[in-house]
Amino acid sequence: MAKIQAIRGMNDLLPQQSPVWQYFENHVKKVLSLYGYNEIRMPVVEKTELFKRSIGEVTDIVEKEMYTFDDRNGDSLTLRPEGTACCVRAAEQHGLLYNQTQKLWYAGPMFRYERPQKGRYRQFHQIGVECFGFKGPDIDAELIMMTARLWKNLGLMDYVCLEINTLGLPEERLAFKNELVRYLVQFESELDEDSKRRLTSNPLRILDSKNLRTQEILDGAPKLSDFLQEESRGDFENLLSLLDFAEIPYKVNTRLVRGLDYYSKTVFEWVTDALGAQGTVCAGGRYDGLVAQMGGKSTPGVGFAMGVERLVLMLEELSLIPSEVHQQVDVYVVAAGEGTLQKAFKLSEELRDAGGYKVLQNTGGGSFKSQMKKADKSGAKIALILGEQEVQDNTVVIKPLFGDAKQVSIQHIDLINELNNFLQ
Ligand code: ATP
Ligand code: MG
Repeated sequence: MAKIQAIRGMNDLLPQQSPVWQYFENHVKKVLSLYGYNEIRMPVVEKTELFKRSIGEVTDIVEKEMYTFDDRNGDSLTLRPEGTACCVRAAEQHGLLYNQTQKLWYAGPMFRYERPQKGRYRQFHQIGVECFGFKGPDIDAELIMMTARLWKNLGLMDYVCLEINTLGLPEERLAFKNELVRYLVQFESELDEDSKRRLTSNPLRILDSKNLRTQEILDGAPKLSDFLQEESRGDFENLLSLLDFAEIPYKVNTRLVRGLDYYSKTVFEWVTDALGAQGTVCAGGRYDGLVAQMGGKSTPGVGFAMGVERLVLMLEELSLIPSEVHQQVDVYVVAAGEGTLQKAFKLSEELRDAGGYKVLQNTGGGSFKSQMKKADKSGAKIALILGEQEVQDNTVVIKPLFGDAKQVSIQHIDLINELNNFLQ
């Protein structure tokens, strides 16, 4: 019978890779806690309507990327393609937005039907942050500073670049959109196919086009910045000066519009050229209209999401993972001979009690030689060896598995002290 394989674009995370993910996730959690953010966990499946209403009907996600199916009772459900809509739904449903502010984060899988390639999968993982009840732009600056701290801690700062823009208020954007369309229709036949379609469905996304001729045409187009009124302009200038003050370099990219409908004012992306085409590792922005658009009381919101696979890939490709990350075991306990197993268990538990030691005790039996082979393969720094003689004499042999140090036989009672010398 043919063996069943995983679904294309949905990956297993294998044991040799998971330490790197844990390393990354631990760094993120550490930084989030330094800024006082709280975790929220939402379901992976939501009503389809939630995403249609929040993300927008004429976006890539809703038009062609969602995993949508009917529940057994006929309700249309969707595997979440992103977390913001779910987070707003949950916060609103549980009264977290009523007369209070929130700084929240979540982590987990997202699902989009895309063409799988390096850095782009159908099940991928995001760590996202959403803040509610803050008008900004101070909180916008805090979010960016928090991500910058993470890149610094991970050694990534030299390889990422912050692109930032403001989309203004909805009425400013509408005025701009009308002028943009008026300008672009003159060149309609020269635009790329996607942009032609977007001319009527979602003209702002044309600014995103990678097509060279379309880009050239856009050079002469009206600029959104010319349509901004005092408030939007002032907020953006304040944000940039906070970033200057924090010494975070950025590039204002007036063509950065982001894929989703719900953004207003600040949008930003951290991009890298270390990954080829899939260069955006973290993206976000302000969405002051979203909560009201979803039926709640008008509440400002701002957030970002980072792509875990892309950041892990970066850490791997740039060799930024400390070797200890792969060190899953300190000590391998070998027990060969009559009566040695009980003693081995006792000794392993003692080491774990003493705190800090990662102990892999041989299980499944085997000769002394085969156990030593397993010890070598385990990556442990030392083997502790118990034979019949050792059990009788209350001793244990410490055998270093790396370097030139000689093996020693010591009294059981001295073990912890001696181990510390070996594991420095
Ligand atoms: P892209 O332009 O690369 O399609 P996006 O604008 O659709 O990205 P967002 O919805 O802003 O992405 O999601 C935030 C982050 O999640 C992205 O910057 C990226 O790092 C990651 N991401 C998005 N889609 C995928 C995917 N299919 N596979 C892996 N990571 C993804
Ligand atoms: Mg996308």
